[in-house]
Amino acid sequence: MNGTMKVVMKEQAQPGAIMSTKQIPTYGAKDILIKVKATSICGTDYHIYSWDAWSQNRIKPPRVMGHEFSGEVIAVGSECHRVKIGDMVSAETHIVCEKCVQCRTGNAHICRDCAILGVDIDGTFAEYVAIPETNAWVNDKDLDPALGSIQEPLGNAVHTVLSGDVAGKSVAVVGCGPIGLMAVAVAKACGASTVYAVDINEYRLDLAQKLGAKVVLNPKEVDVVKEVMKITDGNGIDVACEMSGNAAALNQQIDFLANGGRLSLLGIPTKPVDIDINKVVFKGLTIHGITGRRMYDTWYKVKGLLASGSLNIEPIITHRLPLEEYENGMELMKSGNCGKVILIP
Ligand code: NAD
Ligand code: ZN
Repeated sequence: MNGTMKVVMKEQAQPGAIMSTKQIPTYGAKDILIKVKATSICGTDYHIYSWDAWSQNRIKPPRVMGHEFSGEVIAVGSECHRVKIGDMVSAETHIVCEKCVQCRTGNAHICRDCAILGVDIDGTFAEYVAIPETNAWVNDKDLDPALGSIQEPLGNAVHTVLSGDVAGKSVAVVGCGPIGLMAVAVAKACGASTVYAVDINEYRLDLAQKLGAKVVLNPKEVDVVKEVMKITDGNGIDVACEMSGNAAALNQQIDFLANGGRLSLLGIPTKPVDIDINKVVFKGLTIHGITGRRMYDTWYKVKGLLASGSLNIEPIITHRLPLEEYENGMELMKSGNCGKVILIP
């Protein structure tokens, strides 16, 4: 398709981003072209916008930002056989090599040579985006595009919460950003006995409660470990989902987990973290690092959970803004007084 489109772009190696125009992307025989209907802001986008140390090492401007999205397929390459023009799609944002051992053994989520949309290649804060057909996830036609766009982070939450048993178990979600809030809802929907939510932001703890957390704890106000031990008669919590990226919070989870508990780590600390391995050993804890979403098992779980009627993540969408207001969106992300912020091109 000829013509130009509006985009939000990291133009230079410095904080901020600009609204600009760019050629509508070309697409190869195995790619599809999509008209973006909704694109949500991820923490990663805020990292790129604010130009933190990670972004400085990884991003090569100019780069169209954004990766979480949904939209309508308007063209397909000559070798595409699954996705059709007119389909409403979201996408797995990790474009994997399909050649490495991990890809070839059902573990493409930990591909050794993965490119990420809006990070390594141009992304979705744009009117159009081209992606490999294989990455497209076809949605029901009547799914709200905003909900469609947040299935990708929902997949992170589902992958983390369901990386072990939760039915009938107590589950703590530590860090109730958008993904943590989703994890609260997923744990509740999957039959956790009690969901604990921990965050330093009252706005987010309030949302966590609305999504099914029975106990909310603010480490700025209470000693989280003491409080958990009091509530659980000294037993501790069965499962902890680390979604804060905070070192102190991670250590608290090691302390409040029950013997034999599971700690699933999604949060990304900015520096190496010290932990007491003796506690892990003598408590018999299982620690599991979580990257992305299993391809495509997690996506089927997301679809099934949304279809079940027991998972409602709509309250997590707190703001919908036109794409032009991306700076307001970034400010909201910075303040923490938001759930998911959706941009509409
Ligand atoms: P976010 O930054 O919006 O949320 C983090 C939350 O942690 C915030 O609400 C913050 O108030 C809270 N927090 C900070 N310090 C805390 C403390 N001491 N105790 C409790 N809570 C605390 O992030 P998000 O978008 O919801 O993502 C969650 C985490 O997962 C982030 O670290 C993100 O970088 C990471 N992430 C990992 C993957 C992956 O594939 N592993 C993918 C996406 C995001
Ligand atoms: Zn690979």
